[in-house]
Amino acid sequence: MPTVIIGSGTMGSGIAEVIVARGGSAVLVDPDASARERAQVRIAKNLSRSFEKGRLAERAEDCLARLEMSGTAPVDGVEWVIEAVPENVQLKQRLFGELDAQYPETVWLASNTSSIAIGRLQSRTRHPERVGGLHFFNPVPRMQLVEIIRGLETSEDYLAAARTLTERLGKTSVVVPDRPGFLVNRVARSYYLEALRMVDEGEAPMAVVDEIMEGAGFPMGPFRVMDLVGVDVNLSVTQSVYEQTYYDERYRPHPWQEDLVERGYWGRKSGRGFYRYE
Ligand code: NAD
Repeated sequence: MPTVIIGSGTMGSGIAEVIVARGGSAVLVDPDASARERAQVRIAKNLSRSFEKGRLAERAEDCLARLEMSGTAPVDGVEWVIEAVPENVQLKQRLFGELDAQYPETVWLASNTSSIAIGRLQSRTRHPERVGGLHFFNPVPRMQLVEIIRGLETSEDYLAAARTLTERLGKTSVVVPDRPGFLVNRVARSYYLEALRMVDEGEAPMAVVDEIMEGAGFPMGPFRVMDLVGVDVNLSVTQSVYEQTYYDERYRPHPWQEDLVERGYWGRKSGRGFYRYE
């Protein structure tokens, strides 16, 4: 049965890539034709590289034969729908209302949201028990962890089905509560925000902070992670956690983030973020 993925950006295309690489089939849905094209090129390139490096037993063309790109979501014969549209509450709430009306109640609906409470999405559905979070990390093919988010009404059957799906994709899953930032993104806020404050206050240069944190065993320094994730995505997650904790000081976004986002310095994807890229 194909998995339908809504949104063919960084995360949606990564999830689709992993599904077809592990023998499953996927329909990647995006109303933006150019986004679909970019996703298809990216997935094909990654799969070819994995095959050449011996990480994939099957040829890229064979995996790609199980991937369909579409402007609209198919309904028949679907087991899972995974949403990966931009981090915007109104957009996601509207979409979950539509998905819930469109799909029979036996179809599982998941959001890949980084920070939006699953309860806010469940509140727009008639069958909230089949709704939960499947929080994959970036880049999806490389990152092992998936947070399974249990909303107030998410059923035990949903959690079991989510564990089966993540195992099939070769991922390690952990069930986390439906609280702002869930687990990883809540703890990680301090990693980014404290680093932003230290550098902005002149206590240490940016590259030094990154180097020292990497030297201390973190795989990537905070500024390099923000550039990889997307400065815009990172800011919207921070804003969302800040708002949902009733403006807890600990999660207050830093003006430097807003400044870069306004200028279009969104990180690697735009060629410049905290650092410059070729
Ligand atoms: P992105 O901006 O790269 O991609 C979003 C895609 O959704 C775009 O291609 C856009 O055309 C499409 N889209 C917009 N409206 C749509 C609609 N109504 N129907 C279908 N497609 C639509 O975003 P992303 O970085 O892939 O993030 C997607 C989600 O995953 C967000 O909720 C984000 O918080 C979460 N997330 C992101 C990361 C990350 O590191 N980027 C990590 C984990 C989770």
